[in-house]
Amino acid sequence: MATQRGPSAFHPDLESVLFTEAEIRRRVHSLGRELKQAYGEGEFTIVSIINGAVLFTADLMREIDNPVRLDCIRISSYGDRTQSVGTPQIVHSLTLDIAGRHVLLIDDILDTGKTIALVSSLVRKLDPASLRVCVLLDKQGRREVPFEADFVGFKIPDKFVVGYGLDFAERYRNLPCIGVLRPDLQNPPEWT
Ligand code: 5GP
Ligand code: MG
Repeated sequence: MATQRGPSAFHPDLESVLFTEAEIRRRVHSLGRELKQAYGEGEFTIVSIINGAVLFTADLMREIDNPVRLDCIRISSYGDRTQSVGTPQIVHSLTLDIAGRHVLLIDDILDTGKTIALVSSLVRKLDPASLRVCVLLDKQGRREVPFEADFVGFKIPDKFVVGYGLDFAERYRNLPCIGVLRPDLQNPPEWT
C-alpha cells in the first residue's frame, strides 16, 4: 500500500511523515519480541519517562506477557522550545522500590543523551539487578553525552519530530504517526 508522506498528507502542521501508525505498530511489535529474547519469562520493572514515553510504553507493554511492574519518572521538558536548554531536572521521581529488580528504562527519544544519562545514574544508585534502556527514536548524530540504548525503535535524522507521545509545547502528542513539525511553527507559534 502506498503511503503519503508529503506536506499535509496527515496533518497540516507536519512537513513530512516519518513513520505511519502502521509502521510504528509493526516496529513496536518486533521490539516486544526483542525484549522477550532479553528477559525470557522473568519479571522486570519498567521505568517510563513521562510525558513523552506514555504512548510508546503503553503499546510496548502490551506486546509482552512477562509479569511487569510500572513506574514513571518526570523530567523537566523543553517548554516551548525545540532545543534542550541546560541540564534536565527530575520533577517527579520513582515510587517503586527497584533494589534487586531488573529495570527497563523507556524514553521516547534519545537526543543529546542528557536525559537518559541523568535517569540511568539515578536508577543505578538504587541498586537494580540490571538496567537496560529502550527508546523509540534515536537521533544518533546529536549526542553530547556518550550513550547507546539497548533497544532502539527507529534511527532518525536531526529533525524536530512530534506525534505518538512527542510534543511541541504540549501539543501533537495524540497524533498517531510521527512527523517533522513545519519549521515555521517551531519558534514559537502564537498559541503558546
Ligand atoms: P536529550 O536529553 O537526549 O537531549 O533529550 C531527550 C528528550 O528531549 C526527549 O525525552 C524528548 O522529550 C526531547 N526531544 C528530543 N528531541 C526531540 C524531538 O525531535 N521532538 C520532541 N518532541 N522532543 C524531543
Ligand atoms: Mg521526553
